[in-house]
This record gives sequence, C-alpha cells and structure tokens, in this order.
Amino acid sequence: MIIKNVNLETVCGITSRLPDNVLPEIAFAGKSNVGKSSLINAVMNRKSLARTSSQPGKTQTINYYNVNDAFYLVDLPGYGYAKANEAIKAQWGKMVERYLRSSKQLKTVFLLIDIRHEPSANDRQMYQWICHQGYHPVIIATKMDKLNRSQVPKALKTVREGLEADKGTVIIPFSAQTKQGREEIYDLIDSLLAA
Ligand code: GDP
Repeated sequence: MIIKNVNLETVCGITSRLPDNVLPEIAFAGKSNVGKSSLINAVMNRKSLARTSSQPGKTQTINYYNVNDAFYLVDLPGYGYAKANEAIKAQWGKMVERYLRSSKQLKTVFLLIDIRHEPSANDRQMYQWICHQGYHPVIIATKMDKLNRSQVPKALKTVREGLEADKGTVIIPFSAQTKQGREEIYDLIDSLLAA
C-alpha cells in the first residue's frame, strides 16, 4: 500500500450521528497510552496527524481518516485511563458499542496491546466485545522495540493467553520507532479491502 493522501474527515463526539460511509472502515482500538496515535501516524506516514497523548483524559471522539479515498481508518477513543471518572467510562463504552453495532462498512478492528504487559481485564473485555459483534480482531503488540528480540515470542504468548484469543487470531508485533510490522499491517488492510 502506498499512502497518497490522508484527511481527517469526520470527528464524532458522544452525541454526534455517525457517518453513513460508503468506503470500507478499518478501526483501531486500545487502552490509553498503548501507542495508538503513534501507530496510526506510522501507518498513515504522517508525523503528527493523530494526536499523541501525553495528556490523558483527552476528548473522547471517534476520528475518521480518509486514506487515498479508498478506506477510512477509524481511531476509536482509548479506554482504561485509570483516573477517568465513571461518567467518562460510561460515555466511552456507549460510543464504542454504538460504533461496533452500527457501522455497516467496518471490515475489522485492530486491537492494540502493549507487548510488555499482560492484557488487562479491559483489554480482554474489548477483545470479547469485538468478537461478540461478529468481527475477528487483529491484535497488534505495540512497542516491540522495548524488548530484546529473544523476549518477543514469550511476550506474544502472554498477550495471546491473556486475551484468551482464538488460535486463529493474528498477532502482529509492531514498533512505531522502527516501523517494524508496518508492512504486515498494510498487507492485511490490502487483503481486507480486496475481500
Ligand atoms: P495513545 O494514547 O495510545 O495514542 O499512545 P501514544 O501514541 O500517544 O503513545 C504513548 C507513549 O508511548 C508516547 O510517549 C509514545 O512516544 C510512546 N510510544 C508509542 N509507540 C511506541 C513504540 O513503538 N516504541 C516506543 N519505544 N515508544 C512508543
């Protein structure tokens, strides 16, 4: 895949009507700070289009990036920020659930998990939630540059077991720093768009 043009086309807040897109959608989900903005910027080949979030509790929105007029990369709000109050957590759940239920063009969800950590209850719930809506999530194990190469296989096993992921679930190790894993993500998106 060659990224020719990218445009943040729609930003939806809690009360926004979600767009009835004609183009396919590929969504990205994950806990706050997992590296989602960094990954999205790497995939879109832009330095800072998606916000990287040093400031937690940033606005909960669903952002639709039009890529090459071929598909939408959908940035779902990050979950699990420890200090978020209950109202924000409830709002987050409603938004994501509504999106997963109502998008007619969603092809799959990439779920990001930090390769160094055992998945949390929220991660597991998100994985199950996506499956429950009838999708086969693809797992991206982020920040792989933080581990030695020899530590990676065991870490991937921990991620898979922690999520109680099906045997067939694809897990792609990724680093926004080295861009390792980006070609696999492009190949997967290409095959989803061709399907
Ligand atoms: P988000 O909250 O999920 O959007 O996470 P960000 O993309 O803002 O990243 C959170 C923090 O992790 C930032 O300090 C990033 O620089 C750092 N980070 C993200 N991806 C990587 C990566 O692949 N490798 C390393 N070493 N750090 C990363």
